[in-house]
Amino acid sequence: MKIGLEIHVSLPTKSKLFCSCSNSATEPNSAICEVCMGLPGSKPVLNKGALTVAKRVAEALNMKINERTSFVRKVYFYPDLPKSYQITQLDEPIGTNGHLDIDGKQIHLRRIQLEEDPAKLVRGDDYTLIDFNRSGKPLVEIITEPDIASEDELRSFIAELRSILYYCDIEINEEMKTDLNISGIDSENGERVEVKNITGIAGLTGALRYEITRQSELARKGAKVERETRSYNEAEMRTVSMRKKESDEEYGLIYDADLTEYDLSKVKIEKPIIASRVAHEYASKYGFDPKILLELIMLSKESLLLIDASKGKYPAQAITAGIEYLKKYDKINISKDSFNSLLNLVEKKGMVNKETLEKIEKGEKVESYSGISDEELERTIESMINEKSILLNEYEKNKKVFNFIVGKVAKEKNLDPRYVSEKLNKVLSEKFGLV
Ligand SMILES: [Zn+2]
Repeated sequence: MKIGLEIHVSLPTKSKLFCSCSNSATEPNSAICEVCMGLPGSKPVLNKGALTVAKRVAEALNMKINERTSFVRKVYFYPDLPKSYQITQLDEPIGTNGHLDIDGKQIHLRRIQLEEDPAKLVRGDDYTLIDFNRSGKPLVEIITEPDIASEDELRSFIAELRSILYYCDIEINEEMKTDLNISGIDSENGERVEVKNITGIAGLTGALRYEITRQSELARKGAKVERETRSYNEAEMRTVSMRKKESDEEYGLIYDADLTEYDLSKVKIEKPIIASRVAHEYASKYGFDPKILLELIMLSKESLLLIDASKGKYPAQAITAGIEYLKKYDKINISKDSFNSLLNLVEKKGMVNKETLEKIEKGEKVESYSGISDEELERTIESMINEKSILLNEYEKNKKVFNFIVGKVAKEKNLDPRYVSEKLNKVLSEKFGLV
């Protein structure tokens, strides 16, 4: 099976691609002008900010970046396109020949190009409304080679792409629009089927599953999989035929004389952060678990800043536990100094809860546990069990009492309950012969 994708993602610029209208207006038709309405005589002016973001994404996707870039008009007639053409790229896109590595396999990327979003059509029972806010919003289209061979690879690819785009300040979620090309589910019936305009990640896997079932069924019956374009109905979770086609659609493509060639080589970009690469590098250098670390740095960019400030100074385990506490209590925006105090507490196996985190955040001194030895703690637990032999009897009947002992000792000694429960297990098995 061969799967190729054409993924469209919105860029987080302040203004639209060819005018100064806001890129984030919500009230319908509140961010519009003669350029994005396509009025005669209006002239587009390229937003250089979009060029910078697109170049950074191209770099992150290991693309060969073109020195010069230019735009064309793709002519088609549809109500969402007021000037009857979409401005996109043809011969000189932002980048070509990139790749992403997933689970030891390379997925090749054909190209990345900048283009404008059309307006949004809102259909009612017997009417259609148009919101021009979306008209002219900047998009990048990322086109892969048909290298993806299974649903698992598709998921890994999207996860990797998502982590890369996240560190380029681009979020992909329900808004992501994808065209899915699929062929060779049955090797003798290798015609390519294209499913257009799938929204979101769940929609993408849904459409793929439906096509695998549909095409396998056709093959089983000995019928031919025809070359065609389909669309995905998300509510019904199935694809439906739009048109059969003999060859690729033919659009009128003409050079846009309003938009001159741009020198991309002069566009300065910040070096992109590749989250999965960071996770693997820190795993081998500082002893983190790469999978857990990747999850932590995908929580927020702040978590990577905190990890960067503390890696090598504290054990990886303590840093991981520290970030997990911040996540649990929704405190990921804590300062580096406060994070240091937290790591000190974690290192001393002190108890961390909402209260202690709030104190740490305010820079207040936390009554930290002053360093009880392992032996001392074990003795404390042992004497507590001996003193209250009822606990032991109860423990034999009902193991829930275990949590009671852990909670009591953790509170009295201001200790991390996980550490206390580890010691309690040891004492119960070594001194009392209980498992
Ligand atoms: Zn505008």
